Amino acid sequence: MPNPLPENLSTLKRMVADTPTRPPLGDVAHIGHAQLFTPTPAATVAFFTDFLGLTVSGQDGESTYLRTWDDYEHHSVVVTERATPGIGRTALRCSSPEALERRIEAVEASGVHGEWTNDEPGIGPLWVTQDPDGHEFALYHETEYWEAPSDELRPGLKNQPQAKPGHGVAVRRLDHINYLARDVETTTGYVIDALGARPTEQIRLDDGHIGARWSTFTQKSYDLVYTEDWTGSTGRLHHLAFATDTREDILRAADLALDTGVFIETGPHKHAIQQTFFLYVYEPGGNRIELCNPLTRLILAPDWPLITWTEAERAKGQAWGLKTISSFHTHGTPRFDEPPGL
Ligand code: FE
Repeated sequence: MPNPLPENLSTLKRMVADTPTRPPLGDVAHIGHAQLFTPTPAATVAFFTDFLGLTVSGQDGESTYLRTWDDYEHHSVVVTERATPGIGRTALRCSSPEALERRIEAVEASGVHGEWTNDEPGIGPLWVTQDPDGHEFALYHETEYWEAPSDELRPGLKNQPQAKPGHGVAVRRLDHINYLARDVETTTGYVIDALGARPTEQIRLDDGHIGARWSTFTQKSYDLVYTEDWTGSTGRLHHLAFATDTREDILRAADLALDTGVFIETGPHKHAIQQTFFLYVYEPGGNRIELCNPLTRLILAPDWPLITWTEAERAKGQAWGLKTISSFHTHGTPRFDEPPGL
């Protein structure tokens, strides 16, 4: 495990307020994959394969490796058995060996430490560390391009890694991760300064502190989101999100959820923040999963002004007037009344 976090992370705090932002540094190329803990691994894996349409690409002890059809790497998600649900490792692929070294130096300069491991199939050495809220992160560059092992999985075109599944929602990719954090400003300061992300939108509450912030490593409008954890605990997950090709896919997903007994929390509807079309469901282990469609929205402006939403604007609800469901503010994993994971 990485070394304990330093006590004083105040140097990571920064006031990012309605000012032009720089583009992402580019050292972190994109989200590689994320690990999800679940107390019901068989049911959770079935949710990912049968409902979402992912493919199992590996199995190792308590972990199952799964991939979306448009992922070029070995896996998009790792499902690991634990006593309680939650988020495990988030792996970020760096753009070159030099970029990886630069980010390690920047993370260490911020006072956060890490260590090398080599424990994932299809992925080279990973430098495992954590954010200031205690979520596990890993940085890596080496990876193997995945090759379909059977005719059934082989695509018709050479510029696509895998055939589109003929069942389930058939999500294209792991799109973003929304964490809960005790101190959003400090934690996103780390993501911006040490990892090189760009903040694109945020919520500032009436007392002046930041309640949530969206950041990106790419020209997608967001990759990592941090929302304040009302329980004051650390290291928790709000949701993991998968992208569909169309808004219609989200409506079809809602019908599939009805037919197959998947719990719908809220949606389909459109977010005001980031304008994403969404559906939120719970997988059987209790983790919240979002199906999202951002249409073709990209952040191309080199001097994009960070968008700040006020508490009054948030109170209006979602884009077309849907009030934000109360569980959206209270449910995270692990649940606050549960003991920490194994
Ligand atoms: Fe989301």
